[in-house]
Amino acid sequence: MRIAVVGGGVAGSFLARCLYGSASGADITVFTGGTPADATGASGGMVRGFETGLDECRTAAQSMAELRADPWLSEAARYRETGSTYLLPPGADPADQVKLLEELLPGSAEVLPGGAAAARLGLHGIPPGTLAVVERLAGHISPDQVRTAVLRRLADNGVPVLPTRVRGVTEQAGVLLPDGALHRFDLVVVAAGGWTPALLPEPSGLFRTKRIQYGTYRPDRPVPGVFVDDNSGLYGRPLDGGGLLLGLGSEEWDVSPDAVPPDLALAERVAAAGAGLLQVPPESLRPDRLVASFDCYAPSGGLRLRTVPRTRGVFTFTGGSGGAAKTAPAASRAAAAELLDLATG
Ligand SMILES: Cc1cc2nc3c(=O)[nH]c(=O)nc-3n(C[C@H](O)[C@H](O)[C@H](O)COP(=O)(O)OP(=O)(O)OC[C@H]3O[C@@H](n4cnc5c(N)ncnc54)[C@H](O)[C@@H]3O)c2cc1C
Repeated sequence: MRIAVVGGGVAGSFLARCLYGSASGADITVFTGGTPADATGASGGMVRGFETGLDECRTAAQSMAELRADPWLSEAARYRETGSTYLLPPGADPADQVKLLEELLPGSAEVLPGGAAAARLGLHGIPPGTLAVVERLAGHISPDQVRTAVLRRLADNGVPVLPTRVRGVTEQAGVLLPDGALHRFDLVVVAAGGWTPALLPEPSGLFRTKRIQYGTYRPDRPVPGVFVDDNSGLYGRPLDGGGLLLGLGSEEWDVSPDAVPPDLALAERVAAAGAGLLQVPPESLRPDRLVASFDCYAPSGGLRLRTVPRTRGVFTFTGGSGGAAKTAPAASRAAAAELLDLATG
């Protein structure tokens, strides 16, 4: 069984790792596409078990459990266990998700009044009557470092990890190389993030790209853990060596994955919202660095394996939708099992 994985971000690298580790004997080739500025390279790497959707929460919590249980993986990912606080909007009830977290990450999560949870981090202005999910077993990783380590380990074990930027994928599971050569496989998985639609035999219409942007700041008061505030839309985490990563959701869709210039108006909105949350003057929130990037969004389901209609043996593994750093381990395990089931079936 010859399987090609096109893409060397967290999606492609973790999928190839699971396929290789499955002992199925599948012959895997990874085309990484070189080193463009991809979502994995830009990622903030915040990881936790809690997600507002129950399916996403299960995948994130399973991934968190795997990250913590595998010393090689947590070291390769530079995992830092700072904890996480998720501040919910008024009326949101996280009871089902917290029950699931208790099964998968026992003792990690508790529900607190939003204001009290925010105060522990030095955050302010949370609407009264809200709740927060506070997790102990959560923090941040370096998606860039972990995918590099995973790809290097695969290559050391004899898996062809090629920097080739493929030209496209055919209906019959062929991979078209830049020199025009066609390499045939039994299964091809396009895990090329925002570049995925352009590589498919015909437009899928399923995926879209969206801007994700954050800045790095040096506020007077550090914030000691990872946080998401669904009221202001702000998220953040402490930076290794001091400082704070701070970002705000964007609604800029269909950005080109080849060039995402910084949006200065969005940075201004971060400063205004951050000033309220941290209770500091907005002018003290001037970014040291702005990171402007994108991710591939799917209408639902996040990062998972999807068949490509009117093809034989072609799949996509993308749709991280701004969150695949936290779901890649478990989503890849599920995708690899599905592929190998199909292959043996
Ligand atoms: C700024 C930012 C912050 C984020 N913060 C978080 C966070 O805190 N927590 C979290 O969980 N998620 C976060 N995310 C989301 C997460 O990082 C992404 O969901 C994830 O990295 C997507 O990985 P991917 O492998 O699907 O895509 P990508 O990382 O974009 O990788 C796609 C790969 O495909 C390759 N490729 C493209 N074209 C070709 C070709 N023709 N041939 C071969 N290869 C090709 C590219 O080289 C690239 O390496 C963030 C994303 C961004 C952009």
